[in-house]
Amino acid sequence: MFKKTSEFSPFASKVWLSSPTMHGPEMKYVTEAYQTNWMSTIGENITQAERLVCEKTGCGYAVALSSGTAALHLAVKLAGVKPHDKVLCSDLTFSATVNPVLYEGGVPVFIDAEYDTWNMDPEALDQAFRAHPEAKTVIAAHLYGTPGKMEEIERVCESHGAVLIEDAAESFGALYQGIPTGKLGKISCLSGNGNKIITGSSGGFLLTDDQAVADKARKWSTQSREQASWYQHEELGYNYRMSNVIAGVLRGQIPFLSEHIARKKEIYERYQSGVQDLPVAMNPFEREKAEPNYWLSCLLIDEEAMCPQERGEQEAAYFPQPRKSCPTELLEVLDSIYAEGRPIWKPMHLQPLYRKSEFFTREGSSREKRGKEVGTDIFERGICLPSDIKMTKEQQEKVIEVVKACFQ
Ligand SMILES: *Cc1c(COP(=O)(O)O)cnc(C)c1O
Repeated sequence: MFKKTSEFSPFASKVWLSSPTMHGPEMKYVTEAYQTNWMSTIGENITQAERLVCEKTGCGYAVALSSGTAALHLAVKLAGVKPHDKVLCSDLTFSATVNPVLYEGGVPVFIDAEYDTWNMDPEALDQAFRAHPEAKTVIAAHLYGTPGKMEEIERVCESHGAVLIEDAAESFGALYQGIPTGKLGKISCLSGNGNKIITGSSGGFLLTDDQAVADKARKWSTQSREQASWYQHEELGYNYRMSNVIAGVLRGQIPFLSEHIARKKEIYERYQSGVQDLPVAMNPFEREKAEPNYWLSCLLIDEEAMCPQERGEQEAAYFPQPRKSCPTELLEVLDSIYAEGRPIWKPMHLQPLYRKSEFFTREGSSREKRGKEVGTDIFERGICLPSDIKMTKEQQEKVIEVVKACFQ
């Protein structure tokens, strides 16, 4: 249907969803590590990357780790999750938010999303606490760089004496009531994965204001060695520390955070004005409370403008109709011009791995009571658009043009 132009050839200039953007200082710090042989998990880059993360988030302590998932795993352990403990988790998120609960033998209970920010619905969280007053841990993610309803979530957690773990992997630099995400939980996590707004190629950080928590995380992440002159171990350890090479990339990248956010915001706003006449909405945020980092720009197609779409476990099909579209068609069309879109995260309670887990909407948990599943609806009608900060204005206009054509 759409011609593959050389401008969009896969080798010349594929438009990525969100790919790494290097600036120069990254190489300087990596080279420094190399030339001084500080190529291990100790060194100045680690110290400085941790300092920069504390500066950007306002957190007292940042522990540099091998990934955001490692940070979440240690956070779950630090929160004291034991086998069979229930942990109330965001449902509409990436699996890495919740997998660490299983690593520790915990039992995830999924909490539906709301439409205002696409994050954990505080009312559904409250429902879950009513059914499980003994639950002591909550993991809430900020999807696509948009802060969740943290004031309400914190209030619910507090009233039930639960520890809030904040998954800020996608929201580095986003603000909620002026406070950076990553400082809103008792323990928080950042990711330096290759497609995040700031990347070290990999890497992550555990954030906290509690020195004892930070010390524990650092110890566990370096195989839990005791301070003896031989290898003495009293606790289970992990090899989760960040390498000084990765830290060099991050040390060079982090100062560009606000520049990256400004670019992402431009992209979001250009999409917003480009699709304003279509039966779609951009991913929303609470304008009076939150300033997202605009990591990914997303679309939600109006219910009336959805053409029939079927998704099985592995494949999808749709039935094209005039003036209507669906994520499957949009993804196909983007692919045809060498632009990378992505489906919205498939809710955890729909994943074969987690299908037996409990799931709460604000109505309740049983299938009869549950009512509308907001996350499921966003998954069915939503799509992530190419949001790469190296995308040119012309490329983005082409993306907008092909999206528009789907609704003709
Ligand atoms: C990327 C991501 C993670 C995991 O981070 P890694 O550094 O890739 O391990 C966790 N949660 C969310 C929501 C993410 O998007």
